[in-house]
Amino acid sequence: MAYISVLGSTGSIGVQTLEVLKEVEGDDYQINFLTVNSNVEKLAEQVLEYKPRGVAIADEKAFKRFKEISDFKGKILCGEEGVCQAAADKRNHVIMSALVGFSGVKPTLAAIKNGIQIALANKETLVSAGKIITEAAFKNDVAILAVDSEHSAILQCIVGESHDEIEKIILTASGGPFLNKSHEELENVTLSQALKHPNWTMGSKITIDSATLMNKGFEVIEAKWLFDLEPEQIDVVVHPQSIIHSMVQFVDGSVKAQLGLPDMKLPISYALNFPHRATLPYKRLDMTEIGTMTFLKPDLERFPCLQLAFDALKTGGTATAVVNAANEIAVAAFLKEQIKFMDIPKLIEFALNKMYFVKNPSLDELIHLDIETRNLVTSKL
Ligand code: NDP
Ligand code: MG
Repeated sequence: MAYISVLGSTGSIGVQTLEVLKEVEGDDYQINFLTVNSNVEKLAEQVLEYKPRGVAIADEKAFKRFKEISDFKGKILCGEEGVCQAAADKRNHVIMSALVGFSGVKPTLAAIKNGIQIALANKETLVSAGKIITEAAFKNDVAILAVDSEHSAILQCIVGESHDEIEKIILTASGGPFLNKSHEELENVTLSQALKHPNWTMGSKITIDSATLMNKGFEVIEAKWLFDLEPEQIDVVVHPQSIIHSMVQFVDGSVKAQLGLPDMKLPISYALNFPHRATLPYKRLDMTEIGTMTFLKPDLERFPCLQLAFDALKTGGTATAVVNAANEIAVAAFLKEQIKFMDIPKLIEFALNKMYFVKNPSLDELIHLDIETRNLVTSKL
């Protein structure tokens, strides 16, 4: 029996992880910690159903509220420190890192430093601190297994292959809800339109990132760190049906793809069972039902976030962390309807131009830069 902690258990990935553990894994895994930010009402339900050994609640007010509404008898940790403690708990065999944004960096690193395996959904951790995270994983002999469907697809394609024989990878993008909108139309899209993703149901932040294509930009950066690739080895192709989850091209010209219905439970299960596969009971792909699959080049002019991410990856150093922090503030402001959709890339570009650059930042420098970038972008709202 192995212990698992789910960081971000009340989110879209967290909830699906718990469902997979319950429906598929049976008694193979015992839940160690569940961690949340503030949704303690849902956490109170989860502790009754999943009986973890402990919980961690990042928000202090919510921590107090949880003690009022739940008679949970296990360990109750509080604050960012509490989430890190839960992540690094020695009992953990693996953690599901499904926090959102930069908040994932410290807990993920804390787990790695204790030799705990990582199932990584929280791509912003690699976007902001890819070098630090991957070096720490190497040093501590920790595997980082991707949960993102594209990166799970890449992993499934390269199993049994040699790294030297990968020519390039091709990440597929659905194109989001605004694939066919003109530049003028994009200026005036609304929040509710942006929240309607055609193929996936996800948390609000990643749904907006998918609409701007920043999500794909982040996935390019994530792929660089996960698979040790040069920026030139990573292509993006728009594939609106989201059936091919990504592809790998080898030095002999052969291309392998991984296909499946758009359902995150498969990549979640793959990351938790790697290198094996669990028998999953979900709907199977029927190619005759799909009929047609199409592919397009991404339009970097209508979707400047993708270009900004490509450029930041080439610049390296702190550039990708600036993009991430600026994007977090801009997306939060768009979700509150304080700014327009096309202000998101403008704010990121503004931050990239104003912020200083460090080639090899330490974790403390990154944390400082993250705060400063947030303050800068907030002052511009
Ligand atoms: P959600 O917004 O649905 O969930 C986020 C989770 O993290 C919640 O449990 C939330 O707690 C917790 N959380 C948020 N902020 C903090 C914080 N500051 N400190 C501690 N906990 C925090 O996000 P998703 O599940 O959609 O996404 C999670 C990650 O996975 C993201 O990085 C996303 O990019 C990635 N991902 C998601 C996919 C999806 O299908 N959803 C697909 C591929 C990747 P609370 O509920 O209390 O706010
Ligand atoms: Mg993805």
